[in-house]
Amino acid sequence: MRVLITGGAGFIGSHLCEFLLNEDHQVICMDNLVTGNADNIAHLFGIEGFEFIRYDVTNYVYVAGQLDFVLHFASPASPIDYQQLPIQTLKVGAMGTHKTLGLAKEKKAAFLLASTSECYGDPQVHPQSEDYWGNVNPVGPRGVYDEAKRYAEAITMAYHRYHGVDTRIARIFNTFGPRMRKNDGRAVPTFICQALAGQDITIFGDGSQTRSFGYITDLIEGIYCLMLSDIHTPVNLGNPQEMTVSEMAKTILRLTNSNSKIVFNPLPEDDPKVRQPDISKAKRLLGWEPKVSIAEGLNRTIHWFQQSM
Ligand code: NAD
Repeated sequence: MRVLITGGAGFIGSHLCEFLLNEDHQVICMDNLVTGNADNIAHLFGIEGFEFIRYDVTNYVYVAGQLDFVLHFASPASPIDYQQLPIQTLKVGAMGTHKTLGLAKEKKAAFLLASTSECYGDPQVHPQSEDYWGNVNPVGPRGVYDEAKRYAEAITMAYHRYHGVDTRIARIFNTFGPRMRKNDGRAVPTFICQALAGQDITIFGDGSQTRSFGYITDLIEGIYCLMLSDIHTPVNLGNPQEMTVSEMAKTILRLTNSNSKIVFNPLPEDDPKVRQPDISKAKRLLGWEPKVSIAEGLNRTIHWFQQSM
C-alpha cells in the first residue's frame, strides 16, 4: 500500500512509519513539526519508499499519485502542548480532519483517525466501552483537545455515511515508549526523567487517580489490525491494566533505582479521576490484545531515555 501518515514525525506517528515500511508499504510522512521532531524519523530518510513532506494539514492537502490509506495522526497530544496550542489543536482536529478526509475521498483511499480516550472525558462509566458517550466539559482547558477529537470522529462518520469513504476510528488510550519528549508533561516520561536526574517526582493531586498505560508496539499492532479490518465504528486500543498515578511513580522509582522523593502539586482542572479501556470489541473483532507488560515496557523506555539523555 502507499500510505500517508499525518503527524508522522511525532511519537506514535514515527513508530507507525517504521512499522509500515518494515511491512513493505510505501510511506509518505506529512508533519509541520509543531510538536514532532525530524530526529524521530531521521533513520528512515534514504529508505526506499519513504518520503517526508513538511506541511500543515489544516491547509488544503494534495499528494501526487495513488494513495491507498490516509492515517490522520497530526495533533498536539499532551495537555501541556494542547493548552499552549489551543487554536492549532482545534484546527487540526477540525480542519485537518476535513482536509485529509477530502484527500481520502478524492483518492478512493481508506482513512483512519487517531482519536482518543479523552472523548470519554471524566467518565461516569468504568471501564469505558465504545458505546459510552463520555462526560466532557467543552469550555474547560481540556475542551480544545477533547472536543476537537469528538468533532473529528463525527466528521469521519459523516464522510463514511454520506460519501462512502472507507473509514476507521481508533480511540487510543495513554501510550508510552521511546521518542516521547521528556518535557511534554505526560506522566511516564516526566517521572522517568525526574527519577533518572534524581529530582523530585511531581504528582498532580493525591495520586489516587487511575490511568491505564499501554506500550507503543502493542498500540502499533492494534492500529495495523484495525487498518486491515472493515470496522467503521470506534474501537478502543489500550492496555486495561489500570493503576493509580502513585503506583506508576513508585514503579518507575523501583525500576530506575532512584532515591527521588515524591511531591504533590494541585490537580489540574477537569483531570479525569479514572481511565480504563474495555477492549472486548478489539479482542472479539480484531483478535488483538496487548502483549507487553507495564514493567517490560517501562524498562525499554527507561533504557531509551538513559541513552538519549
Ligand atoms: P506527538 O505530539 O508526538 O505527535 C503529533 C504530531 O502531529 C507531531 O509530530 C506534530 O508536529 C504533528 N502535527 C500537529 N499539528 C499538525 C498540523 N497542523 N499539520 C501537520 N502536522 C501536525 O503526539 P503523539 O502522542 O504521537 O500523538 C499522535 C496522535 O495520537 C494524536 O492525534 C493524538 O491525539 C493521538 N493520541 C495519542 C495518545 C498517546 O498516549 N500518545 C493517546 C490518545 C490519542
